[in-house]
Amino acid sequence: MRYISTRGQAAPRDFEAVLLAGLAEDGGLFVPETWPVLSAAEWRAMRGLPYPALAARILALFGAGEMPLRAMCDEAYGGFGHPAVVPLVQLDHRCFALELFHGPTLAFKDMALQLLGRMFDHVLDKRGERVTIVGATSGDTGSAAIEACRDRSAIDIVILHPEGRTSEVQRRQMTSVLAPNVRNIAVKGDFDACQDLVKAMFNDAPFRTEMRLSAVNSINWARIAAQVPYYAAAALALGAPDREVAVSVPTGNFGNVLAAWVARRMGLPISHFIIGSNRNDILARFLASNDMSAQPVEPSLSPSMDIQVSSNFERLLFELLGRDGAATADTMTRFRAEGRMPVPDAAWREATALFRGFTLDDAGTLSEIRHLWTTGQYLADPHTAVGTAAARALAPEDAAIPVIVAATAHPAKFPDAVERATGIRPPLPARLADLYQREERFDVLPGDLGTIEAAVRAHARRNAA
Ligand SMILES: *Cc1c(COP(=O)(O)O)cnc(C)c1O
Repeated sequence: MRYISTRGQAAPRDFEAVLLAGLAEDGGLFVPETWPVLSAAEWRAMRGLPYPALAARILALFGAGEMPLRAMCDEAYGGFGHPAVVPLVQLDHRCFALELFHGPTLAFKDMALQLLGRMFDHVLDKRGERVTIVGATSGDTGSAAIEACRDRSAIDIVILHPEGRTSEVQRRQMTSVLAPNVRNIAVKGDFDACQDLVKAMFNDAPFRTEMRLSAVNSINWARIAAQVPYYAAAALALGAPDREVAVSVPTGNFGNVLAAWVARRMGLPISHFIIGSNRNDILARFLASNDMSAQPVEPSLSPSMDIQVSSNFERLLFELLGRDGAATADTMTRFRAEGRMPVPDAAWREATALFRGFTLDDAGTLSEIRHLWTTGQYLADPHTAVGTAAARALAPEDAAIPVIVAATAHPAKFPDAVERATGIRPPLPARLADLYQREERFDVLPGDLGTIEAAVRAHARRNAA
């Protein structure tokens, strides 16, 4: 399996090279040169596999088979808080919540990152290399990255968060990880200041090389690949490949819904993709009227979807444009320059035949959380609620098609919104119940580049040996 860039100018790579590179050197995103497709009989044969076994089989199809995948998947998902790893919970006569939040940080990013940390470590170890991962977080992504990298021998990780501006749960999920390769820095400033510092470190070429800076951001192909298996697990459980299913995904960067699209491309009968947005509704506007124009990001009750430029959309665009790298590059360049993406009408029509867009504001989100609680005693977090409301509003006309809703965060991760809607404050799962008693370790530093770089340098245990 080789990977090519959506912008057509990068040399083809194998899975491991794509894992380490992240972005292609022409600015594009890596996609498989050809999509692996399974027959109905091959899909049927995977029914009933334990989740780690299913994940290992699917990842092998993407060229990750040189790694000890089965052991990695067993380890990555062994610590999850549910024996099914990704349980499917029926919400009403046709909607099913696919719970992706039983990992260490209670959100779906763990599904990919728990595996990615191990993959990175394995490949770096084999090459005798090491990296320093730096990142900025406003809350959630930082803890998923820290849990993915903790105790990995070839990785050091430094995460910047804005001092006093994350919730206490979010801060403690990061700062109570006392592994020696993890360092948390509370920056005196806001999230933008943290992000600017990370960008400045990457732009400081000598520092970047000295520290071997790296990131595990959401455009990394391996993250998408690691998200395909749970859609396969859910579809197979509901009768695929002998029965059609639909999927509803609360969406930000388009990574999670793209993984569902990949599952369809591999031969699973997914009839529709329903995209749920909060008031940051660029994707819904695109599907409604071919208007892909970025607007200022506004805060909402579902902060992990407060995104205006859905970076993984480029991979779908590449397909919609007939895998024409030059056309994709041109479209993306114009989007950057003009703030509006010129998608040809035929490509837009193709997208609307498969994708349906739905927008829900904060009031609607609270009333959906209340609805799920009063009708079925199901406590949903605000992101998941956007997905369930979208599923109910835009389910396929054929009522025999069940809808799989990606439940992306545990309700205890967003207790304030859940309590406002239902009067119930969801408790943390038992394995995190002592979070508020755990020792924390972090440094508070001023937001100037010299100070932060010195802290990163001091932390990085370089290849001294
Ligand atoms: C990241 C995230 C999303 C959005 O996922 P994308 O892959 O960026 O579309 C939705 N819900 C939660 C809880 C998240 O953490």
